[in-house]
Amino acid sequence: MNTATIKRHISLALAALLLLTCQGCKNDISSQEEYKKDVFAMDTFMTLKVYGSGGEEAVDEAKNEIFRLEDLFSATKENSDISKLNSSDGSPEEVSEETAELLRLVLEVGEKTGGALDPTVFPIVREWGFTTGKYHVPEKNTLDDLLKNVGLDKITLNGSQVTLSPGTEIDFGAAAKGYTGDRICGLLKKRGITSALINLGGNVQALGTKPDGSLWSVGIEDPEDQSRLACTVRVSDRAVITSGSYERFFEEDGKKYWHIIDPKTGYPADKGLLSVTVIGEQGVYCDALSTALFVMGTEKAIDFCREHPDTEAVLIDKANIYITPGIADSAEPSDRYNYTVIRREGGQ
Ligand code: AMP
Ligand code: MG
Repeated sequence: MNTATIKRHISLALAALLLLTCQGCKNDISSQEEYKKDVFAMDTFMTLKVYGSGGEEAVDEAKNEIFRLEDLFSATKENSDISKLNSSDGSPEEVSEETAELLRLVLEVGEKTGGALDPTVFPIVREWGFTTGKYHVPEKNTLDDLLKNVGLDKITLNGSQVTLSPGTEIDFGAAAKGYTGDRICGLLKKRGITSALINLGGNVQALGTKPDGSLWSVGIEDPEDQSRLACTVRVSDRAVITSGSYERFFEEDGKKYWHIIDPKTGYPADKGLLSVTVIGEQGVYCDALSTALFVMGTEKAIDFCREHPDTEAVLIDKANIYITPGIADSAEPSDRYNYTVIRREGGQ
């Protein structure tokens, strides 16, 4: 047994503290009131902060939306769309439009990243104990057997009908929080909210600017020590979404095993990166991509960023921070790391 769960909870609480902005302005900034709600959902501590008039109702609506989406996407709740699919034994199932939409996006990012993102790794994530708390290093034979049911080609999506090959199960752990953040920001905007900070445990979505009109400052935790920051980025209207080796892990015989699995091997992805943050307008895309880049590892993730000029990311390995040019000017890296701006063709 290990201390993973406790560590995780402490680190998430710290993340909530560190990923905050606007210190010292608890209730009233530029005469805009703050409405704050802490939520535990999707196995994650979340904090919603909404500013200005109408904030109280808006934050309540956001909270209900989180629980509604959790009921739809959870791989462990019995009546969710995902549980329905996972017990379908090869027969086609109708899912909600939202589940189909999220699956479509996950498949798209999966294809775009050569299968680094693959929701069919779920039985392997479970085998390692990440959904049950029964952490252990599985036998290689067990992983090889489970890998037979892993692959994007095991999923057929036709409108809102989904067919999984018999034996295949999926989960949306890699992208559901980004999707949820987008939905919340959409609801808040509809209500006329122009300033909010949604922190879904390492997934930060900043709506508009701080109430005083300045940029939000979002901290990226140091993967080696979450009591400090590796980098800070200043943004408005952006999702800042991190996949980190420290977010969920256990240790056995002095080695760390984390929750992001390489779909090719069945083992935790371990190609250099300890944390990947993707910054962009669409939270679900950033969430899906941060997991995928983590799996791809340092070299391939840097290549991906070079080849996709619309992607902004902060990649952290043991000694280095690599950052894309579009976000470099608004980033403040810690001097504990070597710092490299990823060059793109055209000289940016
Ligand atoms: P994130 O924290 O967004 O990087 O997502 C990690 C979660 O996604 C894990 O807890 C698993 O539920 C799931 N997962 C792990 N590895 C993968 C993968 N290669 N592709 C898709 N989902 C994954
Ligand atoms: Mg993700």
